[in-house]
Amino acid sequence: SGNRTPLMAGNWKMNLNHQEAVVLVQKLAWTLADKKHDYAKCEVVVLPPYTDLRSVQTLVDGDRLLVKYGAQDVSQHESGAYTGEISAGMLAKLGCTYVVVGHSERRQYHGETDELVAAKARRAHAGGMTPIVCVGEGLEVRQAGEHVPYCISQTVGSLAGFTSEQVASLVIAYEPVWAIGTGEVATPDDAQEVCQAIRAQVREAHGDAAADGVRILYGGSVKAANVGGIMAQADVDGCLVGGASLQADEFGAICRFY
Ligand code: PEP
Repeated sequence: SGNRTPLMAGNWKMNLNHQEAVVLVQKLAWTLADKKHDYAKCEVVVLPPYTDLRSVQTLVDGDRLLVKYGAQDVSQHESGAYTGEISAGMLAKLGCTYVVVGHSERRQYHGETDELVAAKARRAHAGGMTPIVCVGEGLEVRQAGEHVPYCISQTVGSLAGFTSEQVASLVIAYEPVWAIGTGEVATPDDAQEVCQAIRAQVREAHGDAAADGVRILYGGSVKAANVGGIMAQADVDGCLVGGASLQADEFGAICRFY
């Protein structure tokens, strides 16, 4: 995957309260320390629920852990009368360095469009954080053989408003919806096909520096047992991990793919 630093990001979704969060992050850090994990060879990020972030910050700062953390979503607005929303400024202040935007569960259950996802991604970036912009086709699109153009269209729409220079520092996650939480992992070739197409689109639209810099993750039922084949693909720079990120041993083993 070129000069790009591999990245493993654990999306906890709506699991674990703040006390449980501290236990999991501590266990993960211990597991990685025990195995002499080299954080330069694989960046490790956890994405807990908002209500856990203050506790995770206290742990990470207090123990000088090298695990990074971020949020699963962010408001498209800067601040103000948006009841229930969380701003990029609030997340950055808590030490978040990454923010997931456009996860398929938000697109599906909360009607998020590419336009909204792009606005959220721009807010995260303007706040000094790295957006992890999610794209991915559902089963019907895959069965119709339309997955590549579908994901390219989502990528273009979800990156609207970014300059080519900015795109170089972003993270895109390709997550086929039919492989999320189903135990049905895409084959390494399936992952590579779409990740390669996304990078080619970025190259066409934004040039070599953007295409060679942007990190593209695969997500969908990644486990320690299948991460090796996926990470061997030239255009896959890491994984977005749901279920398996809730177990310290399993997620630790995924981060040690190298
Ligand atoms: C996800 O939701 O980002 C995900 C990849 O989930 P899982 O690993 O559980 O399929």
